[in-house]
Amino acid sequence: MAKPPGASAGRHAIVIGGSVGGLFAANLLLRRGWDVQVFEKATGGLESRGTGIAYHPETEAILALAGARDKHAPGVRVEGRCAVDAMGTVVARQLYPQYVTAWGRIFNPLRAAFPAGRYHGGRELANLSQDAGSVTAHFADGSRATAELLVGADGFRSAVRAIVAPQAVPVYAGYVGWRGLVEEREFSPDFAPVFGQFTFGFPGHGETIGYPIPGLDDSVAPGERRYNFLWYYPVDAGAALTDLLTDASGRVHAWSIPPALIRPEHIAALQRDAAARLPAPYAEAPRRARQFLVQPIYDLESPAMGFGRVALLGDAAFVARPHVGVGVLKAAEDALALAGALEAEPEVPAALMRYGAARIPPSRAAVAMSRHLGAFIERRLPRPEADPGLGLTLPRLLELSGRPVPRDAH
Ligand SMILES: Cc1cc2nc3c(=O)[nH]c(=O)nc-3n(C[C@H](O)[C@H](O)[C@H](O)COP(=O)(O)OP(=O)(O)OC[C@H]3O[C@@H](n4cnc5c(N)ncnc54)[C@H](O)[C@@H]3O)c2cc1C
Repeated sequence: MAKPPGASAGRHAIVIGGSVGGLFAANLLLRRGWDVQVFEKATGGLESRGTGIAYHPETEAILALAGARDKHAPGVRVEGRCAVDAMGTVVARQLYPQYVTAWGRIFNPLRAAFPAGRYHGGRELANLSQDAGSVTAHFADGSRATAELLVGADGFRSAVRAIVAPQAVPVYAGYVGWRGLVEEREFSPDFAPVFGQFTFGFPGHGETIGYPIPGLDDSVAPGERRYNFLWYYPVDAGAALTDLLTDASGRVHAWSIPPALIRPEHIAALQRDAAARLPAPYAEAPRRARQFLVQPIYDLESPAMGFGRVALLGDAAFVARPHVGVGVLKAAEDALALAGALEAEPEVPAALMRYGAARIPPSRAAVAMSRHLGAFIERRLPRPEADPGLGLTLPRLLELSGRPVPRDAH
């Protein structure tokens, strides 16, 4: 029987990273009687960041197990996806009713479900050490924490992974994802027919995606929602990518740049390109967005998910490009498998072997599927069917994008 949150418990776990993956793990372990402490590098404000994500019923089920299901609608319901040509005419459709939502719609209930006193912001893992009986986290501020389990849920640039599996590094895919949000009420009436659709576009330079998500207060009422747009945009590795990741002070950010530091000239260039390449109503979203995010797209595969008493979870372990739309679900499924393995197997190192055996195959499948779906962008082709070698037609792309990878996929 699970102990109530906050109860003192026998087994101690440290979670590094207090985003969705870390909080899924922390909430699930806490409810299974573990004494859990979360250490997050950021000092606050994660909830106000993030854009749109696909929502899956599997995520809902794991949120409930984590004690984090709330009364709000899961998101905005869309009936399917469509692809449009350069004129904005629909050229393919895929019936697939689903909810699309905001990243905060997952993060906020997870954060609210976890006792505040166990969540330590502003604590950056710098190193770790382990022996036969325990593992110790060493933080940049000089402090330490010791437990029998350490969960590395510190994202694709994981400091934990850099220590336990330094050979596993993210590999740049040759394009970035420009993301942005626009309030529904700020659009012109011309955008109304587009707003409610889950749309894919092929502007001759990458791929665009757009769909509605709830408002900041989780409202799905017409007029109060937001529109999420995403442009997978080829940017050469080297000088072009470095320039994009350089802020106004001249500092180059490794891997990705914080949203507030993206140079306005890059946003202006994207908006000009949108006006030139996107069908008329679609250019409105990048033109009206106030908050932009640029996310270089990487592939990452770790050789294992358990290293003695250290587990890797979520993006720290495997990064599938966002085309499969399973970043959050994959982290949730990792957390559930980890909690289950630790229940089934009392010895932590053996439990982590069991955890890896369960999660490595579906994680590899997700990475492989996402590479396939993004391959036509790497080759800079206007539409998937322009390259028969990929075996990817527009209907097939719509069918496969943004849904969980079948367990037997490979
Ligand atoms: C603020 C934010 C917004 C996001 N928005 C979206 C979105 O809109 N759509 C989408 O599809 N995906 C989004 N993601 C990514 C998405 O959460 C992940 O791809 C996926 O869900 C896996 O989550 P994760 O917890 O494994 O990794 P992440 O969500 O990347 O979280 C890793 C966490 O670890 C922390 N961390 C890193 N290094 C250290 C360290 N050394 N010590 C302590 N803590 C550390 C980071 O600050 C971060 O909070 C977002 C991530 C973040 C952090």
